[in-house]
Amino acid sequence: MKLNQCRYCGTMFKATYSSTVCSHCKELDNILFSRIEEYLKKFPNSNAIQIAEGLELPTFEVVRFIDEGRLQFSKGKFERLK
Ligand SMILES: [Zn+2]
Repeated sequence: MKLNQCRYCGTMFKATYSSTVCSHCKELDNILFSRIEEYLKKFPNSNAIQIAEGLELPTFEVVRFIDEGRLQFSKGKFERLK
């Protein structure tokens, strides 16, 4: 078991894997992720900053999905933020 902290509500929780979302906030996380997916369908070559601006999200939220490997950018055009 690993002790994780939820990035939304800050709750500490145990899970068998590394996670940054507790079970209560999982849905919120999935909603956020589907909004980003929708955006990328409309604007396929957007970078993290454009997505963040388009959806009015903090850029780090978008980058985090990339870090988790859930978002991939087509044709390798996306450059990771430093
Ligand atoms: Zn939470």
